[in-house]
Amino acid sequence: MNFQLYDELFNRNNYPVFSPKDHLPMDDKMCVCLSGELYENCCKKEVEEAAINRKKTPYVDEMLEEIYSKKDKKLLSYITEDKSLNKKNISYCAANKVFGDCDNKNHMRRSHTLSRGIVLKNLSDGEKVIRFNDHKVILGEGKDFLRNAITQSGYSEIDIEDASVTVSFCKKHDVELFSSIETDGNGNYSGSNIQNLEYALKAISFDIYYKIMNIKFLSELIKETKYVAFNPTGSKSTFFRDYSVLVNSLFELYPLMLKVLEELKLLLRDNIEPSLETISFELPLSKVNFSLSEIMVIEDTVCYANVINAEKPYIIISYYKNNGRIISLDKLKEQFDLNHSNKRGKLKCLWPLIKGEFLINAQNIYFNKKAFKKFSDDVKVYLYLVHREGTKDIPDKVESECDKELMRILYGV
Ligand SMILES: [Zn+2]
Ligand SMILES: [Zn+2]
Repeated sequence: MNFQLYDELFNRNNYPVFSPKDHLPMDDKMCVCLSGELYENCCKKEVEEAAINRKKTPYVDEMLEEIYSKKDKKLLSYITEDKSLNKKNISYCAANKVFGDCDNKNHMRRSHTLSRGIVLKNLSDGEKVIRFNDHKVILGEGKDFLRNAITQSGYSEIDIEDASVTVSFCKKHDVELFSSIETDGNGNYSGSNIQNLEYALKAISFDIYYKIMNIKFLSELIKETKYVAFNPTGSKSTFFRDYSVLVNSLFELYPLMLKVLEELKLLLRDNIEPSLETISFELPLSKVNFSLSEIMVIEDTVCYANVINAEKPYIIISYYKNNGRIISLDKLKEQFDLNHSNKRGKLKCLWPLIKGEFLINAQNIYFNKKAFKKFSDDVKVYLYLVHREGTKDIPDKVESECDKELMRILYGV
């Protein structure tokens, strides 16, 4: 697979297909290592041998542990990300098909899926920002072990130059398609159609790039060892299932990216109104201490979510109404507006959305460093666990106490 060619990247036939029953790769489709060969002629034999040998090869566990818990910069996921972004090993222009006429003279650009000006700069206060360190695989048990591991390596600091970067637009389209939210002087959010489409495009272009990067990572991982696909008992690990979910969701999102681009094109060229629905919430604060841009699924509908610090902070959620309106969002907006002069009431009613959708699901999420430093270790551990696994194993009392602190610091009140 050539990860620098749009037509190859967005052709479903270039990816493996997994059996819906047992998630195993299908023989007559592309191989999981993305060599371009059919699975039956490529990795199948070695995968089958690994399934048999897994149980009786004791050094495998150590080998896998070694692969997953190297130092950060030696982790395969880290290397894949670094090469994708900095060597531009994964690069394309997402606008290629709909807008055409890409700027081929220049290489594709590293661009920010969180708008650099309005979002990142305003979030950062001139410092680095904080993100979850999703490369680190924390293996081990026990409360103290977890606490140490998470507070030491569950998060990392990142320069805003490098935060939320993808290589998914040519220079020309990166400038043209985001002018209403990135150009100087467009520092405020007015809720216009064009801004809503541009924010939606930011969110989906991040998600698509991130999914392609993860597929590449899995293909590299299985090239490294076929044992990743099996548990110590010889049963299948989640490897093929994860791979299958990624490829399927990439091709569920792809048409939605095209739709945003098409509506943007119609609006720009012929002033035709888009059908994108948007609900936005102006937070009664001067600033919110986190930002994000990515896809969320709410009531089975794909939503484009953004949290920004324009002149005022906003939560912006857009979607296409294929399954009708999203009732829970309409109710939330109604409740939010009812609290018109009650600042606390407004902030409180948004919390379930922030926690339940954003903190739990977001990958492309960044925190203000000063605010993050105010979190107690308990809250850092809690936030990390919620992000990784949701709230199911967390006692109610811990949850409500940590939520209070999180809410207070993220809102800066
Ligand atoms: Zn192969
Ligand atoms: Zn382009």
